[in-house]
Amino acid sequence: MATKLAARRYPAPAHAVGSLADAIPRPFWLEANTEPVPRPSLTETTEADLLVIGGGYTGLWTALQAKETDPGLDVVLLEANTCGWAASGRNGGFCSSSLTHGIGNGIERWGEEAATLERLGRENLDGIEESVRRYGIDCDFARTGELTFATKPWQVGELRTMTAQARKLGHDAVYLDAAQARAEVHSPTYLGGSWLRNSVAMLDPARLALGLRTACLRAGVRIHENSPVERLDPGARDVVAHTGYGRVRARKVMLASGAFTPLLRRLRNFIVPVYDYALVTEPLSEAALDSIGWRNRQGLGDAANQFHYYRLTADNRILWGGYDVVYHYRSAVRQELLRRPATFAKLAGHFFATFPQLEGTRFTHQWGGVIDTCSRFAPFVGTCSQGRIGYALGFTGLGVGASRFFAAAALDLLHGRETERTRLRMIQSRPVPFPPEPLRWTGIALTMWSLDRADRSGKRNLWLRCLDRLGLGFAS
Ligand SMILES: Cc1cc2nc3c(=O)[nH]c(=O)nc-3n(C[C@H](O)[C@H](O)[C@H](O)COP(=O)(O)OP(=O)(O)OC[C@H]3O[C@@H](n4cnc5c(N)ncnc54)[C@H](O)[C@@H]3O)c2cc1C
Repeated sequence: MATKLAARRYPAPAHAVGSLADAIPRPFWLEANTEPVPRPSLTETTEADLLVIGGGYTGLWTALQAKETDPGLDVVLLEANTCGWAASGRNGGFCSSSLTHGIGNGIERWGEEAATLERLGRENLDGIEESVRRYGIDCDFARTGELTFATKPWQVGELRTMTAQARKLGHDAVYLDAAQARAEVHSPTYLGGSWLRNSVAMLDPARLALGLRTACLRAGVRIHENSPVERLDPGARDVVAHTGYGRVRARKVMLASGAFTPLLRRLRNFIVPVYDYALVTEPLSEAALDSIGWRNRQGLGDAANQFHYYRLTADNRILWGGYDVVYHYRSAVRQELLRRPATFAKLAGHFFATFPQLEGTRFTHQWGGVIDTCSRFAPFVGTCSQGRIGYALGFTGLGVGASRFFAAAALDLLHGRETERTRLRMIQSRPVPFPPEPLRWTGIALTMWSLDRADRSGKRNLWLRCLDRLGLGFAS
């Protein structure tokens, strides 16, 4: 009876809802790792050359690269919770070379510099691989690429075009027809595929964050955890950051606060927090693995606007996430929003529709995370307060790889360095801000509804075409 009720409430078959019975509401990656002893909170007044606010990838790469460039720089990092607890420790672990949230979005917005952006993105991914090796970060980094599947007839042509564009821009990309796609990974839903073979790595996201934290500490970065910055006071020569018990007087400040309300009011309309959700299965048996193929262990996804992303973990579980992205009125960010049974059930239903041969598999973990989305769907950087405060925000769900590049670009700007990065139009421009409520909520709800219809029909309605014309449409 209970299962029947659940099945009626959620748009998923009863067996899919039942498969969630033992799933704990914690990110698999954080659960699987022993958390280090937190660094002490800041309880004093101190000084620094550079203060970094936020201990996710963006903040950690900022601190580490600042030290790599100038080991003598005195760097302090303040994290509200513990490093890597937020998006950086709970994502899908797709470490992509893309700086523009996909080649399509890059060509659409920065067409004339697309080749440069793709090259810089690949160099950035090489840089991450090299850092993982140099600092001995044990995060299962594997450059297996990403394979995107068409599951609707109109996506087949889109994937062919995408593959051709990727090859033209220097990627090792191959198109797979339906038979080849299904031979690679066995799902009856696949109609074709595009495999970027070398431009994406799979990794354990929490172990990357913790490894970067260790590398920062070894390089001499002073990290204080459980130290939320409450206020920034820019002065004539420096900036003072206030926490509950202490403060830092810093010559430069880098804001790397992800989807959380930015300390600078002027940045608040540039990002909205949206929730994204994921599931992880129990480890698959050899027989279950055989039934799906997937011997090349790529990151997988589908080509819809509302897409799923999925991958194998080191112990042969499947992480399955995406599809629903949820915005809450007035940009709400709250702990209880990390759990969303309706979305978990929907995701489970989609999982078994993709892999019917895995019926009976149980999910062990279910969780959500919050993403800093901006209207151009790709990060932006800048400075304010006479160049003393820098920021890198708006990763829109693709920050595992890009965070290193945009942290470096923000450091260039903060230190007044002219580089190939700072000359990019992408770096010099900002996204269009979101309107205030209730227009914000209405616009996002209308867009999500329209994208859902477009995924069913293959046609973009008037609203989406207007957004496309204004440069606000989504084309990843
Ligand atoms: C479910 C999910 C799946 C995803 N999958 C992928 C993927 O597969 N590939 C990919 O590329 N991207 C993915 N992403 C996005 C990716 O995780 C993010 O783009 C990336 O982690 C952003 O890093 P960040 O450091 O900017 O932000 P965060 O990791 O959110 O870190 C920001 C930090 O700032 C701290 N902070 C905020 N305000 C303050 C303050 N006032 N004082 C002190 N500290 C503060 C927070 O506590 C937090 O730790 C996913 C995200 C989610 C949620």
